Amino acid sequence: MANTFINIMNTTCPQCNKGKVFDEKSPFLNIGFPKMNKNCSNCNYKFEKEPGYFFGAMYMNYGLTVAESIATYVIAQQFFTARFDLRIIPIIAVVIIGLASFNIRLSRMLWLYMFKNYTM
Ligand SMILES: [Zn+2]
Repeated sequence: MANTFINIMNTTCPQCNKGKVFDEKSPFLNIGFPKMNKNCSNCNYKFEKEPGYFFGAMYMNYGLTVAESIATYVIAQQFFTARFDLRIIPIIAVVIIGLASFNIRLSRMLWLYMFKNYTM
């Protein structure tokens, strides 16, 4: 389980844990839409199994975004006297936009690891 977490953070192939999923040097620090490799360079594992395979990753992305928004609210709320200060909303917006690129990559990695072949 700890290894899986490390592999997801390193964006390595779910099959062999060696090849890279993204065609980028530091996947989580990039801005913009991710460039993905079609196949694993090491074991030739196909990342996008069918057209629209990563459509489901959008739901992972949504879940991550909601979780981050709630976490941001809980942290930001400590600095305001009112229970719900409207000034928290722009703070949440900035955090979400800042993490958007990270979320796309993380959700795709989670999606790949959720549906990898665990019997091998
Ligand atoms: Zn591989």
